[in-house]
Amino acid sequence: MRRKNWMKVLVTGGAGYIGSHTCKYLAERGHSVVTYDNLSTGHRELVKWGPFVHGDIRDYASLRRAIHTHEPDGLIHFASVIAVGESVQNPGLYYDINCMGSLTIMQVLRDEGVRPLVVSGSAAVYGLPNVCPVGESAVTNPINPYGRTKLVMEWMLADFEVAHKLPWVALRYFNASGADADGETGEWHEPETHLIPNVLRAVRGGQELKVFGNDYSTPDGTCIRDYIHVSDLAAAHVAALEHLLAGRPSTSINLGTGRGVSVAEIIAKASQVTGKPVPYTVYPRRPGDPAMLVADPARGREVLGWEAKYSDLETILSSAWAWECAGKTAH
Ligand code: UDP
Repeated sequence: MRRKNWMKVLVTGGAGYIGSHTCKYLAERGHSVVTYDNLSTGHRELVKWGPFVHGDIRDYASLRRAIHTHEPDGLIHFASVIAVGESVQNPGLYYDINCMGSLTIMQVLRDEGVRPLVVSGSAAVYGLPNVCPVGESAVTNPINPYGRTKLVMEWMLADFEVAHKLPWVALRYFNASGADADGETGEWHEPETHLIPNVLRAVRGGQELKVFGNDYSTPDGTCIRDYIHVSDLAAAHVAALEHLLAGRPSTSINLGTGRGVSVAEIIAKASQVTGKPVPYTVYPRRPGDPAMLVADPARGREVLGWEAKYSDLETILSSAWAWECAGKTAH
């Protein structure tokens, strides 16, 4: 039982997109945050809400020292590599960082004292689901190395719980999107592969958008996804950690809205929000893209009492547009 009403949280990947939003969310609620990040893809400029430890999740000694020094009540683990295409080209990197890195975290917790661990999972664990919306009990059959590394991480967690009583929640994100309402952090990937930043960059006059396929069996022929605002993701991580600190059971939970939006609908809404046209060309399908991927968000509501609040398209696109126009990302 926790005696204090605030937590000290070590956040791996706290210098990244979802990690930095979660650090801000924690700090705003009076919690204490330590960011642990090797800055390979994260940005030092996004670490604003507590101390920073420069370290790699695969470095057992460094991670153990950080936990020994800061004595967090729990960990939120974001540090990972996330590009599906790159995972096909370079699977070794993905197994090394996403599996070996996660394993090292579990080993450090086993040896330094177990405490709750909330991790970044992914809807990629479902592969090409044959039911939509997708619930957590759907078959997990990832179709690329990225998705497989995220599933392996969940298997390791389940085994460490049995052997070492390590409590965990894996949050399976659908399409993370949007930016902080105050413009203090936002999406900053190099290179950027995600739809919404690429749409907004095309509006700003950068590279024309490539639409990957308009011959899917969806109403307008483009792929349908479930876009969830990053600030809603941040809230879910904190709710998951509180759930574990209250002694409730480990589990995997989808983070989505239950609402599907097509690529064409994103383009139309982006044009409306920015007041400008989105220059685009239709290209062939991107290998491995399911036609439709939409979450059944019921378990998040039931288990965590969590619900998306900022994930309407207007809020997602206007916050992402404000971040894009602020020009803080180097591209
Ligand atoms: N997409 C696109 N052009 C881009 C990036 C993405 O047409 O420059 C499409 C992609 O094929 C998919 C959807 O947008 O149907 C969402 O892709 P994203 O990479 O943002 O997320 P994913 O669903 O792959 O995790």
